Amino acid sequence: MKRIGFIGLGTMGTPMAQNIIRGGYDMVVYNRNASKCAPLKKEGALIADSPQEVAAECDLTMTIVSDPQAALAVSLGDDGVLKGLSPGKGYIDLSTVDAATSQKIASAVTEVGARFLEAPVSGSKKPAEDGTLIILAAGDNGLYEEALPLFGLLGKAAHYFGDVGRGAMMKLAVNMVMGSMTVALSEGLTLAKGAGLDPAALLDVLDEGVVSNPLFRLKGPAMLRGEFTTAFPLKHMQKDMRLALEAGDDAGSTLPVANAANVKFLESLADGYGDEDMSAVFKAFK
Ligand code: NAP
Repeated sequence: MKRIGFIGLGTMGTPMAQNIIRGGYDMVVYNRNASKCAPLKKEGALIADSPQEVAAECDLTMTIVSDPQAALAVSLGDDGVLKGLSPGKGYIDLSTVDAATSQKIASAVTEVGARFLEAPVSGSKKPAEDGTLIILAAGDNGLYEEALPLFGLLGKAAHYFGDVGRGAMMKLAVNMVMGSMTVALSEGLTLAKGAGLDPAALLDVLDEGVVSNPLFRLKGPAMLRGEFTTAFPLKHMQKDMRLALEAGDDAGSTLPVANAANVKFLESLADGYGDEDMSAVFKAFK
């Protein structure tokens, strides 16, 4: 059975790597802060000293790190994945990045004869733990087919969108809608409260009607309780809003709703809520 390399053991990476190990695969892991490797070591993973070492020791390496800068550092940096790749090996980047970053990594990987797939994931901490993520892949189709058993351990659905960049764009479009919806919900709760209504009753009424959705059901009651336990950190949501807006600029789309929502995420970041859940954007409303 193939040995899988896994880089980036944050909120998402740790449970995802655990699900792959529990699916019966051998694994080599790396995380910049080595202390986060402990839970995987306990489950039998070997620990590497660099992304390069992971890629050198595995046929297939997967990465999930914060943002474009982190993905570039891990993939193309001094002791990055690229240095450990060779013809035929596979590299899958699950991080949420912009299309240009993904394309830059893809061309470096394919230049050394290895195969590249971008595969950002939709869903947060709980779906990562439960193996119910949605995989949004693009790039090497053969690698996608080979990775389907792994995606089956990570998620409930996998989609293939074609050339590198298209999975990244799909992920940014999804998160842009989610960010705008979270801000819209915050506004609705604020209006209801300001008008002397019970905002919990607004959640009930929304849930009975055509805009009923799992996001409002999951986040709404916690927002009203002032609980913002991190599932998807606000700093990553703002990063995704920024990347989506930049992609809109490139495509000549003005995206006014997302632009307005991003202002509230930026305010929340400035207020120090970046490590709280993205729903902490509610605190930016008075
Ligand atoms: P996280 O908990 O903040 O973890 C970030 C990971 O990136 C850590 O392993 C961190 O290493 C690593 N990292 C950051 N900068 C690095 C660098 N320069 N070099 C090497 N490693 C670096 O983030 P997360 O929530 O797991 O999210 C990871 C990715 O998945 C992001 O792109 C995010 O947008 C996406 N995503 C997240 C969710 C969610 O709900 N959380 C859902 C879908 C997609 P250290 O431990 O050393 O800091």
